[in-house]
Amino acid sequence: MISTDVLIIGAGLLGCFTARNLTEYDIDVIVLEKEDDVCRGISKANTGIIYSGYDHKPGSEKHKLCVQANEAFDRLCHELEVPFRRPGSLMISYGPKGDAVIARKYRDGIEGGVQGLSLLNGSEAEAMEPALAKGITSALYSSETGTVDPWELCIAAYENARENGAQFVFGCCVTGIKRKDGGFIAETQGDTFFAKTVVNAAGLSSDVIREMSEKPLIRLFPTAADYIVLDRSAGSIVDHVIFHEGEDGKGLTLVPTVDGNLLIGPTNREASEGETKACDMRTDCSGLELLKALCEEIVPDADLSKQIRTFGSLRPNPYFVSLCDGDVIKREDNIKDIRITEENGLFSLIGIKTPGLTFSNELGKAVADMAAAYAGKTEPNTDFDPHRKAIIRVRDLSEEERADLICSDSAYGEVVCPCMDVTKAEILQAVKRGAHDFESVKRRTGAGFGKCQGSRCRRRIMDIIAKGE
Ligand SMILES: Cc1cc2nc3c(=O)[nH]c(=O)nc-3n(C[C@H](O)[C@H](O)[C@H](O)COP(=O)(O)OP(=O)(O)OC[C@H]3O[C@@H](n4cnc5c(N)ncnc54)[C@H](O)[C@@H]3O)c2cc1C
Repeated sequence: MISTDVLIIGAGLLGCFTARNLTEYDIDVIVLEKEDDVCRGISKANTGIIYSGYDHKPGSEKHKLCVQANEAFDRLCHELEVPFRRPGSLMISYGPKGDAVIARKYRDGIEGGVQGLSLLNGSEAEAMEPALAKGITSALYSSETGTVDPWELCIAAYENARENGAQFVFGCCVTGIKRKDGGFIAETQGDTFFAKTVVNAAGLSSDVIREMSEKPLIRLFPTAADYIVLDRSAGSIVDHVIFHEGEDGKGLTLVPTVDGNLLIGPTNREASEGETKACDMRTDCSGLELLKALCEEIVPDADLSKQIRTFGSLRPNPYFVSLCDGDVIKREDNIKDIRITEENGLFSLIGIKTPGLTFSNELGKAVADMAAAYAGKTEPNTDFDPHRKAIIRVRDLSEEERADLICSDSAYGEVVCPCMDVTKAEILQAVKRGAHDFESVKRRTGAGFGKCQGSRCRRRIMDIIAKGE
C-alpha cells in the first residue's frame, strides 16, 4: 500500500492546480489519473476564455474568484511561461431581449467592480468589428477578457507541481474509496493508496467518486457542446472574443485563439445516454450545422471552408438529489455557484463549469489550503518555486534567434511540422518531459494542430518518439 498525505483524483486543470498549490506546503501529494496524460477531460475541450467576471452575480463565489483570477492571470502565465492574450470581448445583440441581457450584465459587472467595461451602441460596436452583420442594437465591451490554450496551462501546472514534488500516476483509475484509520483507502486496478485527505477533482466523474464513500447529494446531468475550428488563415476575421446574445436564446461565441485560429462554438444540446455514461465528448451533426448557420448569420464573410477540425465537450451540470425509497431523485434547483463539499477529509469539486478554467489556480489554492490544514501539514515548502520553463517555441523567434539556436543544436533546424513550424528539437523536449504519443506531443508543442491536422508530421513524430532522437 502506498501512503501519502493528500491524494488527488483527476489530473485536469483543477487536479493539477490543486497539486501545484499543495506543493507550497511541506506535504506529500499523489495525483491519480485514469488516462495516460494530463488534460484529457473537460480541461482540453472548452472555449479557452479568461472571463472578466461580469457574467456572474456580484457576491457569488464564482464572481469573486473570477475577478480575482482575471487580475492575477498575467502573473500566473508569466510564472508558468504560458502564452496569454487579452483581446477583450464584445457581447453583441440584435434586439430587445439581448439588449436587456447586456444591460443587466453591465450593471452586475459595475456593481461587482469588474474593470474595463463599457456599454456601446450598435454603430460603435460595428466600427470595432466590421465583419459582424450590421444591425447590432447594443454591445458590452470588456477590455480584460483574455484567451489561453487550456491544455498549455494545464500541462504547465502539472510540470510545475511535479518539479515541486507532487507525484503523478497515469493510467490509474480509482475504482473504490473506503474510510479507514482516520483516512481513506483508494483502490485502483493496480496499487492501493492510503491518504489522510482526498481531493476529488474527477470532473465528469466527481459525483461517482464522491459516492464511493458518501450518500448521494449532488449528481451531474451533462449537456453536450460542439465546436468548429477554422485555420489560421481565417482566424483574423474578428479581433475580439465575440459573444452573440441571440433573441431566441441561441447564441454564438467566436474566439480568436492565442495560436491565431478562430474557434466557433459552443452549442448547448441534450447529451445522449451513451455520451453521458462514457463521458464521451463527441460532436453531433445537428450541433455543427447550427453553428454554421449562426456563423453565416453573424459573420457572413467567415470562410467556413477553412474548417480544420471539430470537437465536442460535456458540461458537468450539478443538481442536488435526494433519496426516496432507495431511488435517487433529481431536484429542480441546479447549483449555480461553485462549492467545495468537505466531508471529514474528502474534498469534492463537483460540477465546476465555466469559468473553471479562469479560476483554476484560485480554486486549486482554496482546496489545497483546506486539504493541507485537514492533513495537519501547513509548514511551508521552503524550496517551492512557482516558475516553470516552457519548451522554446521556434515559431515565435526572430531569424537571428533561430539561427543562434540552430548553431547550438542542429535539431532546431529540422522542421517536422511545416503547418505549425515545429522543429525536431521541440518534439524531443516534449518527449523528455514525458510525452509518449502523438497526442501528448501535439498538446506540448502545437505540432499537428495546423491545416493538415498532422497528416504530414504524424509518422515522423511517432518515429522520433520511438527512437528518442
Ligand atoms: C463546453 C465548456 C466550455 C468551457 N469554457 C470555459 C471557458 O471558456 N473559460 C473558463 O474559464 N472555463 C470554461 N469551462 C470550464 C472549464 O473547462 C472546467 O471548469 C475545467 O476544465 C474543469 O476541470 P476539471 O479538472 O474539473 O475536469 P477535467 O479536466 O475533466 O479533469 C478530470 C480528470 O479526472 C479524471 N478521472 C475521472 N475519473 C477518474 C477516476 N475514477 N480515477 C482517476 N482519474 C479519474 C479524468 O480522466 C480527467 O482527466 C468550460 C467548460 C465546458 C464544459
